[in-house]
Amino acid sequence: MVDLIIVVLGIIIGSFLNVCIYRLPRNQSILNPPSHCLDCNTQLKAWELIPIVSYFLLRGKCRYCGKSYSSRYPMVELITGLLFLWCLQIVGLRPELLKVCICTAFLIVITFIDYDYQLILDKVLLWFAGAGVAINLYIGYPHIADMLIAALVGGGLLLIIAVLTKGGMGGGDIKFVAVLGLWLGVKLIIVTLFLSFFIGGVGGALLLVLKVKGRKDFIPFGPFIATGAFISMLFGSELVWWYFHTIAK
Ligand SMILES: [Zn+2]
Repeated sequence: MVDLIIVVLGIIIGSFLNVCIYRLPRNQSILNPPSHCLDCNTQLKAWELIPIVSYFLLRGKCRYCGKSYSSRYPMVELITGLLFLWCLQIVGLRPELLKVCICTAFLIVITFIDYDYQLILDKVLLWFAGAGVAINLYIGYPHIADMLIAALVGGGLLLIIAVLTKGGMGGGDIKFVAVLGLWLGVKLIIVTLFLSFFIGGVGGALLLVLKVKGRKDFIPFGPFIATGAFISMLFGSELVWWYFHTIAK
């Protein structure tokens, strides 16, 4: 039952994340106006706003003008629901679950905006930073010193890499990792960086092989950092343990 509640909650929050992903880069308010068809501006009725369900009831089209809705919308909703469920299964029903789910929601918004615009918005990072510090103070860890050192170490390492690779990494990525440091603390931000470069390497190669991206295309790094942070948040401590007990033994 808890599983079902968290999936439904995730899907509903995912629907709000869609609004954030669409409107924030366009400098529009995320509260006003209410959801409407982007083509004919007709305001959508309650039954047309049920996440995922409405998309299929409407067969992915506006009922008034026939314009297709992007399949991105139900996809983001489903992803959010499933990731929340995964968080529940790993973390359990504890205060930390709130932290992990809120962080995941931010990671989803940052991932899709970066994918669309190659941009990580300062206003999103500011809210992300504020939420992280507040939640950590509430939960009691990581300690404030750990948060600050992690922000400096994470941001600093990425800055060095950005300089060495001459622009392979943007200012947004550096700030993103610094904020993640606040959320995760030193140990997990280091795991995050290792994972991001590993996933970025494999993922970048796959995008080239599958011809999703060409050799000259810019591949945003934010989504790889976000994926690394998510895995680090759920499995970081186990990964560190495993590393020191097998590979580094
Ligand atoms: Zn329409």
